[in-house]
Amino acid sequence: MQFPQALETVLQTLERMRAESQHRPCASRSSLDALKQISSLRKIDSLEGHAPSYPKNNLGADSAAPSKTEKADRLAAVQTRVSVCVKCPNLASSRTQTVFGVGNPDADIMFVGEAPGADEDAQGEPFVGRAGQLLTKIIKAMGFPREEVYIANVLKCRPDVPAGSFGNRPPTPREMQTCRPYLMEQIDIIKPKVIVALGAVAVEGLLGTRAPMRELRGRWDSFNGTPLMITYHPAYLLRNQSPSEKRKVWEDMMLVLERLEKPISEKQRNYFL
Ligand code: SF4
Repeated sequence: MQFPQALETVLQTLERMRAESQHRPCASRSSLDALKQISSLRKIDSLEGHAPSYPKNNLGADSAAPSKTEKADRLAAVQTRVSVCVKCPNLASSRTQTVFGVGNPDADIMFVGEAPGADEDAQGEPFVGRAGQLLTKIIKAMGFPREEVYIANVLKCRPDVPAGSFGNRPPTPREMQTCRPYLMEQIDIIKPKVIVALGAVAVEGLLGTRAPMRELRGRWDSFNGTPLMITYHPAYLLRNQSPSEKRKVWEDMMLVLERLEKPISEKQRNYFL
């Protein structure tokens, strides 16, 4: 077996093992991606000095841009692992179900919030409560159906609250640190052009930094090379109905549209949430 074919075989085996919840190999996603790059035809051609014909498969040169279906399959594999995760025993025993994420596996924009609340825990989908409805309204005002973007939280389980109490609590730094690898995998698979962090807790989960939102929002940051826009969580807008705060979120979203080189209509420019 020639080197390129042997490499492909190794990659396929690692991918298959990584997708299964048991017997995971000690190979990080970045290591797999690096191996895939090595296996690209152009690089191997230059190494060998000729152009042999290799059988095409989904790990070859085309793997640099996986199809939407491939991304969906990889997300489903991660979701399967998340659905049985018990790394936070208290959350695993109190949750109704895990809340993985929803939307287009090939989305240009990925919205990241902090954690599921009671509504999300009940329905298994992020941002379906009142704050979620406002987020959906914002997404639509940007010119996208909700299904066109991807929406997830840093935490995949609802933070537990004392029995009989109402409301939600924010996730602890330790809980976010424990769950963060799943979000990293989601981002790595989807490879959005822009990430929007919703609120200070999401920022802490993504970047590990804490600061007042008035200092964080409305400017571009970076998450592992992906442009990151920080804006207020929609729940904040529900608590604070001030038009000026709503306008700030909308201005942040216009920056996102500009970054994606989407046309912005006059109606959108003058829009108030
Ligand atoms: S919050 Fe994340 S890491 Fe913790 S149990 Fe749920 S899925 Fe697992």
